[in-house]
Parts: sequence; C-alpha cells; structure tokens
Amino acid sequence: MPTILGIPFDVNSSCLRGPAGAPAKIREALRSDASNKWTELGVDLGAAGAFADAGDLPLNDSPESVGDDFAEIERAVGKLLAKGEAPVSLGGDHSVTYPILKAFARRYPELTIIHFDAHPDLYDEFEGSRVSHACPFARIMEERLAKRLVQVGIRTMNGHQREQAARFGVEVVEMRALPAFDRLKIRGPVYVSFDMDVLDPAFAPGISHREPGGITVREAIAHLHAIEGTIAGADIVEYNPVQDVSGMTATVAAKILKEILGKMIMA
Ligand code: MN
Ligand code: MN
Repeated sequence: MPTILGIPFDVNSSCLRGPAGAPAKIREALRSDASNKWTELGVDLGAAGAFADAGDLPLNDSPESVGDDFAEIERAVGKLLAKGEAPVSLGGDHSVTYPILKAFARRYPELTIIHFDAHPDLYDEFEGSRVSHACPFARIMEERLAKRLVQVGIRTMNGHQREQAARFGVEVVEMRALPAFDRLKIRGPVYVSFDMDVLDPAFAPGISHREPGGITVREAIAHLHAIEGTIAGADIVEYNPVQDVSGMTATVAAKILKEILGKMIMA
C-alpha cells in the first residue's frame, strides 16, 4: 500500500529555506474539500485503505545533525519497505532523496529512477557541501543505488554536470526535447522523484529556484500517466511554502501526489 511519509527538512538548501514546511501544507491541500478524492485515471483515494500516512519524521534539521537525520530517513523508509509498504515521501529539499534511495537500493537492486526536475542535481559538491540539494544524484549514481537514472525537464545543464551525466550514464531528457512519453516505458521497478521546480514557475511559484520555461501541470500529469513499470515509491520535493502564492503550489503538489498515488494503486 502507498504510505505517505513527511520529511520536514531543508537544511541542505543552497538558496532559501522553507521546504521543511511542505509536508503539512501538501496534506492540507490533499484533504481540502475544494476537490474530490478521485484521480483522473479513476482511483478513489477516499476509499478506506487506499493509502496510509506514517506522519512526519522527527528530524533536527540543523547543519550539525545532517548525518543523524539522513540515518533516520534511511531507517524509516527501510522500515516501511520491510513491511511491504510503498513509501511516498513529502519533502523537504531534494537532498533527502539520497538517504531514501539507500533504503530502496537494498530492496530493489534493479531500480530505475524517473527524476522530474529543472536541475540535474549532479554536482560533485556545491558551495562546499557534498550533501547539498544540488548533489543527490551524484551520490546515488556513485554508490550505484539505481540501475538507471532518467531525468526529465532539465533546463539548467552546465559543463560540469554534463560531464557528470556522461560519467554516470544518466539518461537526460532536456526540457526542449519534451514530450518524451516513450522514454518512460520502463521494465521493472520505478522510483519517481518529483522536484516541483520542473514545473514552470507560472504554475508553481512556491519553490526556491524559479526556472522559467518549464512544463505545465497538464504535461506533468501526462508524463506521470505515461510511466510503465511498477512504481515502488516516490518523493515530492522542493515545495517551498514561503514562496507560495495563495496556496497555489500546495494545491499543485497535492494534485501531483494524487496522480502518483493513483498510478501506484492501479498497478
Ligand atoms: Mn532537485
Ligand atoms: Mn530543481
């Protein structure tokens, strides 16, 4: 069963803090009576036992305790996986995907990650940190925590990260190459990492790094629906309530969450 897990953590953000407040806001938007609980593909998330919620992790979210917090994230995700649950975490900055994948790699050695983002997040280090939210996929690929990494919506590639992508064999689908539905036909288990800044900031202003020229909410849903392969888990990261406008981005994050949960339940 898909199980939501809140990760209130943003100390590895390079620019603005704020995503630690995301889990509560996304849950609130998901529960809102402004919309019903059915997904577009016909799954009723309001049905008893459709999905579970494991609450928020108790994290320190301070620079001195990043190691402890990462260990707690890995432990909690591993515990859900051991119970046969499919964790869907609500971040948090994108650095949390690294400890999450450490837990996933033990259970799913043949995992393909589908990573939606404006940024490749492949820096070897960023501003002196190797656990920055700009680095998680460098750590994940170095430690071979996934078999394949498919990145979608990238529009900030630079020289260093292009070298990193080549070094790790990352399959980068840049924004200008979309739509790319065929690239999402995956064999085997899939992990979806959804950075909210893949969306154009016109649709989702509540993020720390606004990068114009992104996908619409409609295009995001179409690509999520196009995924083939079993979604074993997912995260939604980088929603920053401090930057949001009248809760618009929380509503969008909740919509993305609904469609991911629906796909998982249908499988
Ligand atoms: Mn990211
Ligand atoms: Mn990003």
